[in-house]
Amino acid sequence: MSDHPMKPATIAAQAAGAANAADAGVVPGISMTTTYARGPDNALLSPRNVYARDHNDTVRQAEEVLRQLEGAAASLLFPSGMAAIAALFRTLPNGGRVVAQSGIYWGATVWMREFCARRGITLDEVDAADADVLAAACGTPADLVWIEVPSNPWLKVADIARAAELAHGAGAILAVDGTAATPVLTRALDLGADISMHSGTKAINGHTDVVAGVLSCRDAQSPVWEAILADRHDAGAILGPMEAWLLMRGMRTLPLRLERMCANALAIARHLEAHEGVEAVLYPGLTDHPGHALAARQMCGGFGYLMSVLVRGGRDRALEVNGRLRLFHRATSLGGVESLVEHRATIEPDTGIPENLLRLSIGIEDAGDLIADLDRALAP
Ligand code: PLP
Repeated sequence: MSDHPMKPATIAAQAAGAANAADAGVVPGISMTTTYARGPDNALLSPRNVYARDHNDTVRQAEEVLRQLEGAAASLLFPSGMAAIAALFRTLPNGGRVVAQSGIYWGATVWMREFCARRGITLDEVDAADADVLAAACGTPADLVWIEVPSNPWLKVADIARAAELAHGAGAILAVDGTAATPVLTRALDLGADISMHSGTKAINGHTDVVAGVLSCRDAQSPVWEAILADRHDAGAILGPMEAWLLMRGMRTLPLRLERMCANALAIARHLEAHEGVEAVLYPGLTDHPGHALAARQMCGGFGYLMSVLVRGGRDRALEVNGRLRLFHRATSLGGVESLVEHRATIEPDTGIPENLLRLSIGIEDAGDLIADLDRALAP
């Protein structure tokens, strides 16, 4: 098989070859030990394992699935997406400079602002989906360019290859949060990014029962990766083995789930776009979306599972529609097998999010059922 590169469906279904060597199980076991024994000669009985705050075979197996899906040199798991982001940001020098995309996941923006202010780091938030705006921001030296593709909840699509050129021209590394795409739909490292980040809490796990995050790199010998590795070991932001095992189980069906989620999302976006109760639908799969052509090049096999809908009639009407939905759970988060809806201005008030915006995360249910639920909620 070595001359035949495996496709994501195979990597995922076979958990990148993970099996339980101890009992010949097709599914690997869970290693819960926190420490590892030495022999009478004081040599480690398993030389790769000393202590569980970095050494755990279950976590390594899940990382290997992600590494292969990303086409990465190395992948590291963290206890949440935010912990992964924080591990990367902690590698920045005090007094450095970050160019970050504006209008991205609000939790990340809030944390970055506070962190950068505390460390004397200049944080310039720009509309990185506009290459000219990003080019202008990269006219000044920087340490890190941070983009989110597609962005949450605006669904903007930044050009990863162009962003990599611009970041490198400014002496910075490019890191991409691809949570709304997953490594199956967008391979940011292949496009020139130095670091790829995902919240594993979302579609990677997909079953709304694990909180996790992952960083992957193109060059495992790069100073930033070595610093991230040391940071995870020394600061101890590790994922537990149970979560890693659940993540691996979830990932077995990741490509299959995405096929269905993307098909459902496209059908729903097209339906809502033509609905008189809807002002606009933000979804890169729609041909009139400004990032459509780029997304079609950059994403493989679908346009993702996330969309935002601007309901005609303003805030009260949007909240009324939100309240009338029966199949969509009213809950934050995204990427699970069950569809979710969220009135984003409730979560991030006074940040420019339209008051009539409902963010939808589309699951694997029957598309017709979801459309019927939306139609009922949008009825006058
Ligand atoms: N990035 C994006 C795009 C997200 O939507 C989220 C969470 O919603 C995160 C990062 C943070 O991930 P986590 O909740 O796993 O910390």
